[in-house]
Amino acid sequence: MDVGYPERAEAFRAEVRAFLAANLPPGWRGLGALAPGERRDFERAWRATLAEHNLLAVSWPAEYGGAGLSDIEQVVRSEEFERAGAPTGTENDGFGIGLLGNTLLVAGTEEQKRYFLPRILSGEHVWCQGYSEPDAGSDLAGVRTRAILDGEEWLINGQKIWTSAGATANWIFVIARTDPDVPKHRGLTFLLIPIDQPGVEVRPIRNAAGYDLFCEVFFTDARTPAGHVVGGVNSGWSTAMTLLGFERGAEVTTDPIRYRRDLDRLLELARERGRDAEPRIRDELAWCYARVEIMRYRGYRGLTRFLAGARPGADGAISKLIWSEYFQRYTELAMEILGLDALAPPGAGNGGALKVADAGTENSARCWAEEFLHARAGTIYAGSSQIQRTVIGEQLLGLPREPRMDGGPFRDIGKPAAAPALGG
Ligand SMILES: Cc1cc2nc3c(=O)[nH]c(=O)nc-3n(C[C@H](O)[C@H](O)[C@H](O)COP(=O)(O)OP(=O)(O)OC[C@H]3O[C@@H](n4cnc5c(N)ncnc54)[C@H](O)[C@@H]3O)c2cc1C
Repeated sequence: MDVGYPERAEAFRAEVRAFLAANLPPGWRGLGALAPGERRDFERAWRATLAEHNLLAVSWPAEYGGAGLSDIEQVVRSEEFERAGAPTGTENDGFGIGLLGNTLLVAGTEEQKRYFLPRILSGEHVWCQGYSEPDAGSDLAGVRTRAILDGEEWLINGQKIWTSAGATANWIFVIARTDPDVPKHRGLTFLLIPIDQPGVEVRPIRNAAGYDLFCEVFFTDARTPAGHVVGGVNSGWSTAMTLLGFERGAEVTTDPIRYRRDLDRLLELARERGRDAEPRIRDELAWCYARVEIMRYRGYRGLTRFLAGARPGADGAISKLIWSEYFQRYTELAMEILGLDALAPPGAGNGGALKVADAGTENSARCWAEEFLHARAGTIYAGSSQIQRTVIGEQLLGLPREPRMDGGPFRDIGKPAAAPALGG
């Protein structure tokens, strides 16, 4: 099997490598190696450098501010950045560029593309994702946040939760209920809402590792223009699913690079701690190696399909399931190797970095312990493992659908949540 990339992609790879060599600080060891203040400054300056070199959205058409290259160059850019441990933007760019921007290219109007895409790239609009609610996560179509058309504007009331990077965003894309009298998937609208207005309140939530990485967002008579709808009024479900395809399948070619590097660190840890000769540990490490190889071949498969024009869809559920369950198992193995040190881990932390590779702390026990905690959430966000298995069963294997109890009109809207007073 020839798994080589086309010549022009390799030429672009050389350009990206030269860019990284010329622009990353000497001795670069990842974001997590920087102190929190330095980190913010670096992220700001790095993003500006990427924008200046047109490396933020390589495959977006030039008329919307992208580099106007093809999907293969986009993939090559991401692979080389992953190899170098260099960010491809801020966390909010994952939502603005990776999710919303790509969705607008598929489902947005020409006017929306011309208005929003350049503003995402310039950093004027900074995005987060408002899907989940306290009573609607896996059952996403059960959202209660209500939007009512009031003249030229939508009036929005309700609550979102677990909004990653919400504290640094100034726009949020939201699935809201616009028709409660039809079956729940049919009464939803995908809305784009500015955060900097009196009707929107964002409150940080601290995670298990001790970092404020996500938020809850309250809408109390919040407003957005009537035209800020992607995919049509009451047709938001299809837009929401297009976006989830990008979310679940996005890293299919970079996952094996990242996890291979983490596996190398894990091997180093096992050697350092004198555990690498133990048969059980060796078995587990061999399992990890096999998983990373599976990810690598799935990466090639995903890339081949992508370059043939297929957009990420239900297939993304397989990648999501594989990486998230792998993520948990190898960080559990790290905890086992660390033994008692895992309970009160010494060394520097990873500053909230979601990957050991970002941490740059040379395999500190604290860094592994924090990643172990982050990994717990991997099988929950972007759709839990149980939900991915249902998607695979129903949509890819054609198995009988699970019984649904909720085919009738969605009337159970209740009173939208008001922001409770802070206290305690
Ligand atoms: C770190 C993190 C970041 C996140 N970031 C965002 C974000 O930026 N924006 C956003 O909108 N959301 C975000 N989320 C929310 C995430 O998408 C939801 O947590 C997830 O979809 C699960 O929903 P839930 O928490 O309501 O759990 P529930 O849906 O209540 O599920 C609880 C358990 O029941 C199982 N379950 C539920 N329904 C079924 C079923 N039909 N069949 C089998 N099992 C089922 C689930 O698998 C799970 O184990 C984030 C979550 C985390 C942990």
